[in-house]
Amino acid sequence: MCGIVGYIGTRPVLPLLVEGLRRLEYRGYDSAGVAIAIDGVLAVYKRKGKVRELESVLPVEVPGTVGIAHTRWATHGAPSDLNAHPHLDATGRIGVVHNGIIENAAELKRKLQADGVVFVSETDTEVLAHLIAGRPETSLVEAVRAALRLVKGAYGLAVIDAARPEAIVAARKGGPVVIGVGDGEMFVASDASALMGHARSVAHLDDGEVAEVRADGFTVLTLEGAETTKTTLELSGDAAGFDKGDYAHFMRKEIGEQPEAVRRTLLGRLDHRFSTAHLGGIELAAREMLDIRRVKILGCGSAYYAGTLGAHLIEQLARIPAHAEPASEFRYRNPVIEQDTLYIAVSQSGETFDTLAAIQEVKRKGGRVLGVVNSVGSTIARECGRGVYLHAGPEVAVVSTKTWTSTAVAFALLALQLGRVRDMSAGQGARLLSALSALPDQIAGIVAREAELAPIAARLAKAEHAYFLGRAAGYAVAMEGALKLKEISYMHAEAYPASELKHGPLALISAETPTLMVLPDDDLLAKNLSTIAEVRTRGGPVLAITHPGVVTEGVEASFAVPRSEPELDAILLNVPLQLVAYQVAQGLGRDIDQPRNLAKSVTVE
Ligand code: GLU
Repeated sequence: MCGIVGYIGTRPVLPLLVEGLRRLEYRGYDSAGVAIAIDGVLAVYKRKGKVRELESVLPVEVPGTVGIAHTRWATHGAPSDLNAHPHLDATGRIGVVHNGIIENAAELKRKLQADGVVFVSETDTEVLAHLIAGRPETSLVEAVRAALRLVKGAYGLAVIDAARPEAIVAARKGGPVVIGVGDGEMFVASDASALMGHARSVAHLDDGEVAEVRADGFTVLTLEGAETTKTTLELSGDAAGFDKGDYAHFMRKEIGEQPEAVRRTLLGRLDHRFSTAHLGGIELAAREMLDIRRVKILGCGSAYYAGTLGAHLIEQLARIPAHAEPASEFRYRNPVIEQDTLYIAVSQSGETFDTLAAIQEVKRKGGRVLGVVNSVGSTIARECGRGVYLHAGPEVAVVSTKTWTSTAVAFALLALQLGRVRDMSAGQGARLLSALSALPDQIAGIVAREAELAPIAARLAKAEHAYFLGRAAGYAVAMEGALKLKEISYMHAEAYPASELKHGPLALISAETPTLMVLPDDDLLAKNLSTIAEVRTRGGPVLAITHPGVVTEGVEASFAVPRSEPELDAILLNVPLQLVAYQVAQGLGRDIDQPRNLAKSVTVE
């Protein structure tokens, strides 16, 4: 679930491992550790808490040039120094770092204990160290393969043997692992971002593969022992995305990066000649686009909410019935997969386990899936084989901001492209193209006015519960706004379609429960104003994100975003809610970039 870094080469390994762990901090974790091979033994340092706490116990200099490191997100055994990875075998020679869950750990542990093995931690991972150590007669890679054949569950892992420090062995099933290639040195990581600025290129392991990584190269085998060849991708992108610069938090930096992110999402995809969008990666000919009878969008968390807006855009602009569903639910309800439905999977990281499993379910039943993904070369991007890259740049904060906006923009492009092969006129297409091009400057304008949001944030911060209401596309914005507030301020915020208020939650409206209304100046304005009146009648305070000129009587505090075209307004209405959540969380002193209990990419079930 969390982070792995490994290095083998000629440079002192400790600073490289620590830098890698710092790059992975954004994923959210509860403890960290390193193991370095020095003269036939492992030097191990591990600590509950943040990487800086680990650093406080690290020696200034350590001689080794081979090592592995980990940030843990506890699943088996509480976060503690002892349960932190790496885990060792009884001799202390074999060190293992593992992301994921060994499902049959209890059974394997009982067998090992019956053979006299003593366990020192409560983790499932420790089983691996003992299993691997049980085969000292074979090479490390053989011992790892043999151990993994006994294991059920999900893993990304890296293993070293201090007595044989010529290689790191890495393996993958369900948890991402990349191998980074440098000059006379090699890396292993759970995420290519840890290797930015160090590795020249990366190879992604596929499920069921085990790699022997030496300083001068690597070999990949399947669990069954067949050798596989891997292609490497050049590692582009700049390491600056991983630096907070002058900002207090990555989240705030990334909110401010949205104009640039949207520009990149749009780059090269606007076709002014035919008043349409052109997404080359979807690989759909006009005739195939015409044959689509339905669109089903799958994602989790913010990706699901961005997909909800995406479904709305596709249905409105292309007039194709479209619906979003949490990917995590989809695969458990034995879904009907239709040939003429286009399935779209959304994932910022491209590693979301639930979404990946949903894609596999669709493919297994013969359906076709496009990916909408930010991380190039990620598992979901590769599994889908076609789709849309966001190009939003690295997103380090656990909560999504710029990738939400870029996902919404990517859906607007897709809806435009699908719409223009159907009934959308060139005039409407041209109007949307210019509205899309205007978004970056409009977003920059909203972010520059962040101080104006203080009254809304202050009112929410005083409450324990809040409702976020919206209609149609505004409901997708309400859902994302409420989620953002929950995630980083830990405040209870519930999104509801405004039209549903009177069918239940109205009973909870009181002077203590503010309602935030997503209130665009659109066809539904009168309906939304009636909802506000209903809330006011029950003494509920109302806050609003709205458009200039909307008369908001009885609204305690409001903020007006500039108008886009009505179809795209939702993209702008969401931006102030990111800033509101940020301000509330800041006021409450929360750990904004790494909120409690959350991880950036959820690679377990
Ligand atoms: N299941 C392992 C543990 O609880 C690994 C957790 C992780 O992915 O960080 O230690």
